[in-house]
Amino acid sequence: MLNASIREQFPILDQEINGHPLVYLDSAASSQKPLAVIEAIEDYYRRNHSNVHRGVHTLGTQATDAYEGARERVRSFIHAAVPEEIIFTRGTTTAINLVASSYGDANVGEGDEIVLTPMEHHANLIPWQQLAKRKGATLRYVELTPDGRVTLDAVQAVLSDRTKIVAMSHVSNVLGTINPIAEVARLAHELGAVMVVDAAQSAPHRKLDVQALDCDFLAFSGHKMLGPTGIGVLYGKKQLLKNMEPVEFGGEMIDYVDLYESTWKDIPYRFEAGTPIIAGAVGLAAAIDFLEEIGLENVEAHERELASYAIEQMKTIEGIEIYGPEDRVGLVTFNLKDVHAHDLATVLDMQGIAVRAGHHCAQPLMRLLKQSSTARASFYLYNTKEEVDRFIEGLRQTKEYFNYEF
Ligand code: PMP
Repeated sequence: MLNASIREQFPILDQEINGHPLVYLDSAASSQKPLAVIEAIEDYYRRNHSNVHRGVHTLGTQATDAYEGARERVRSFIHAAVPEEIIFTRGTTTAINLVASSYGDANVGEGDEIVLTPMEHHANLIPWQQLAKRKGATLRYVELTPDGRVTLDAVQAVLSDRTKIVAMSHVSNVLGTINPIAEVARLAHELGAVMVVDAAQSAPHRKLDVQALDCDFLAFSGHKMLGPTGIGVLYGKKQLLKNMEPVEFGGEMIDYVDLYESTWKDIPYRFEAGTPIIAGAVGLAAAIDFLEEIGLENVEAHERELASYAIEQMKTIEGIEIYGPEDRVGLVTFNLKDVHAHDLATVLDMQGIAVRAGHHCAQPLMRLLKQSSTARASFYLYNTKEEVDRFIEGLRQTKEYFNYEF
């Protein structure tokens, strides 16, 4: 268990909601921010802000150093080979759209296949649907096990010599499943396909090594990992990025501009048109410092312990159905029989407990689970065992509130 004092570094958590101390169990949607991140952003605006890359003046250099320093920080965080492989985006969604539009449009043709799983977040599903429509390509879905896992046999069953792209979440935002990315990447590469990883739910909680995973592209969002909103990352292998066309055009990304023709800068700038998200990158670098100081292994172990403790207690409450495999990250998706997830979340909120309810941007998965809606409690490094107890007590009270009878 991590030291409970970590929680004190998150000012937003120190408040009452509906007359009760806040229990924030919605970090998989967006995490809260430690003072170190808030102050890094403030400090940047107080002392260092200017536009980047062009300014000859001192503040221009300071802002550029901060921005490029953040790129290097992200590189080391995910163990990429060189900083040019790190492209700052607005988030996971923008990053995956960039790959689908740039790499996808150039490399996927009629009759080609894109392999996905039914557990994908809409952000890793719709860009591929749209690409398939544009190109006359086909989407093929890996069949999940009944408890919501991806097996290599099931992947192999949908791979073919027409497969051009395999796109898969590293960790499911609904089931908490951890997918065997390195092994799937190996299968994809045997067929000459590229592996795209949605790491939105793994980057905040697990040590990432893009070279060990040997993925071709990997995307994640700053706001789920203690950083600010509006900043995300696309990692791409250098030799792939170098051959890709930009999808947005304008300032910052050009080399030479004439009235009718222009040429582009090298990577990563080619993919960062316009004034970049400088303060966002600074905040993300501070978030990475914070996470690495605690140690991602410790963060992951802490969350898993909280989730197992929660699941153990939840199983003692009649009528609770839990979705997803035994081996999972620190989140639990569930329903209480005969109570709509939105009602459940509303009654928990009356007790100061924040959980997510809905389809979690994974409608196909909801259909597979035969649920229109589920509730999700997700844990992060600032949550405590006492909060899990409050959550369990909250569930019991919710059940009583709805006068639940079996
Ligand atoms: N993929 C997964 C697995 C997610 O959980 C999320 C966020 N809910 C996203 C993609 C999209 O992230 P963002 O909204 O930050 O672009």
